[in-house]
Amino acid sequence: MLYTIEYLTEKIRESEKPYDLEKITAAYETANEAHAGVKRSSGEPYITHPIAVACILLEFCMDTDTICAALLHDVVEDTDVTLETLRKKFGEDVANLVDGVTKIGQVPLNNTKEEQQAENTRKILIAMSKDIRVIIIKLADRLHNMRTIMYRPPEKQRKKALETMNFYAPIAHRLGMSAVKEEMEDISIRILDPYGSKTIEDMLNQHKEQRDTFIDVIKSRIRERISDIQPPPTIEGRVKSVYSIYKKVYITGKSFDEIYDIYAVRVIVSTVIECYNVLGIVHDIFKPIPFRFKDYIATPKPNRYQSLHTTVIGREGIPFEVQIRTYEMHNTAQYGIAAHWKYKAGISGKVSGEKRFDWIRHIIEQQQDTDDIEQIADAIKVDLSPDDVYVFTPKGDVINLPAGSTVIDFAYAIHTQVGNHMTGAKVGGKMIRFDYRLQTGDIVEVVTSPGARPNRNWLDIAKTNEARSKIRSWFKRECREENIQEGMTAIENEFRRNKMTPEPDFILELAKMQHFDNAEDFYAAIGYGGVILSKIMQRAKDMYTARHADHETEDPYSVNYSGRRRRSGVIVDGMDNCLVKYAKCCNPLPGDDIIGFITRGYGVSVHKKDCLNVLNSPPEDKERWIKAAWAAADETDCYNATIDVIAEDRTALIADVTSVIAASRIPIRHITAHNLKNGNGNIIVTVEVASVEQLNNLIARISKISGVISAERTGIV
Ligand code: MN
Repeated sequence: MLYTIEYLTEKIRESEKPYDLEKITAAYETANEAHAGVKRSSGEPYITHPIAVACILLEFCMDTDTICAALLHDVVEDTDVTLETLRKKFGEDVANLVDGVTKIGQVPLNNTKEEQQAENTRKILIAMSKDIRVIIIKLADRLHNMRTIMYRPPEKQRKKALETMNFYAPIAHRLGMSAVKEEMEDISIRILDPYGSKTIEDMLNQHKEQRDTFIDVIKSRIRERISDIQPPPTIEGRVKSVYSIYKKVYITGKSFDEIYDIYAVRVIVSTVIECYNVLGIVHDIFKPIPFRFKDYIATPKPNRYQSLHTTVIGREGIPFEVQIRTYEMHNTAQYGIAAHWKYKAGISGKVSGEKRFDWIRHIIEQQQDTDDIEQIADAIKVDLSPDDVYVFTPKGDVINLPAGSTVIDFAYAIHTQVGNHMTGAKVGGKMIRFDYRLQTGDIVEVVTSPGARPNRNWLDIAKTNEARSKIRSWFKRECREENIQEGMTAIENEFRRNKMTPEPDFILELAKMQHFDNAEDFYAAIGYGGVILSKIMQRAKDMYTARHADHETEDPYSVNYSGRRRRSGVIVDGMDNCLVKYAKCCNPLPGDDIIGFITRGYGVSVHKKDCLNVLNSPPEDKERWIKAAWAAADETDCYNATIDVIAEDRTALIADVTSVIAASRIPIRHITAHNLKNGNGNIIVTVEVASVEQLNNLIARISKISGVISAERTGIV
């Protein structure tokens, strides 16, 4: 059949309905111009397709705007015509319908997904149709494409047939559009299983003549008995759809002979009472098969289908199904929601967005059939829970997120690594900001890069706890070295401010107080913010004071970390046997030039002469500085010194450093290691040495270790 504007206008006239022919013609002209020169795979001009879709919708008695939108449904996607143009020329409704159809057409459909995913996709397709006419146009579009599928290459045929079987036919079923559903299924199954469906068709054709006679006889016997009903009922006889028989044979495994409802006779009457009357008559003429009677008038199917079904056996012993319904029920059975739409809104009326699921809700209220109720309840969940959004991956997987979710939530919902390496995201092919709120039906593509990392402000943008906790744990884990470094710096600064020295064993004591096993974890927690330093400082100061007060009488600085007493090796000018401690700011060693400072109540503290604290000492302290010198070296004397080693990061670096120290028979008192931001490694080791000479020798040997960039004595422990 050649679909032309003349054909369409003829059909519109035949319908005798008040269509706005002028508007429809204008829509045709816009579409015709836009698609000019383009051909379908069949070789026909492209415009035949939108016209065919419009004709299908005309059969459904859809309104003027739907017919216009059908004619224009491919122009925005395929041609230069913009939505704006359509809005100006044909109004908001037509533009929105075309926009909706375009968007639905862009949804990736995943044919390999399991049933639940497919079901979710169907829900979204319906939910995306803020106006239910959108999905009806889309179904008509797909139906015509299936009718002309033979012109496409075989692999395309298969893909389209699968999509139709998995997504569009079930939607048509859900919306009660059984004529559309059956035709879609029959075309699809012939592509998907040519052999199986040919077998069914052959069986059906085998006795075509006999069958036709059989059906004719039944029809006339029924007609005879109901001739007094006015107006005369319509009686139809038919063979059921290929796919419905295919399913019974291949899926439920029934033999061809067992299928009762290959043949069906349909009686269409004017009133519900007549339906039951006719049923009585049918049961009087033929023998009913027990348990095969179904009253879908009293209890309609969820998709609003109503009819009486009974299976009976004729004289020939062949069972057949009889369906009895009113004209209105028949219309609903064929066109489903489209028929409803017509009754509710008329040819030029409108159904508001909020009302679009009233129809389904109404059915639920009436429904008793629990299996189907659940299905429908699921189907409208999308509509009923504004708390959720459903979005697609580019492959068509459905991701369900709470409303207000962002691409950050989406990325982490897909995979932690996708989130951690996200550099940007696209929705519908366009780059969007991270704080864009996802909408149901959005197709979201995350752009990643192996070197990318999360940003701390994502914590404020992400909506889901899942995403936030994944971001947090990333910072906890990946930033450990940075956190340790930050924690150490914070401690050093805070201690300096309070004139305290971060002695390693004291830090460890603080760490244990905060329930950490070691100083590193403690530093990391401070760096990450898990421990707030300012909150524990008062306690730390108290502990520090107490600790030092305890030791003052016996000179804490002459006690080394192993606890052995060390004799004072310093002679202070003019003072015998005075208390001496070694300043922690410069850690003087035997051999260094030193000077003493008379403290208030703690004896003399010994500094290196070039210590900054000495050089910067205020004038009023001038008189408290006092000459000091090292006594003769004693082999048992030893001092702590700290070496700061910076090296290229490599495995076994720490082992090499420690083994050099061990080879020198120098005890290690404390060691920490961490990575610097620039990628180098930093080892801070406190050793016990007898003299500056011994220390310098050790530093020289450490400097020679491969990869070591610098090794220096440091004043800070
Ligand atoms: Mn199309």
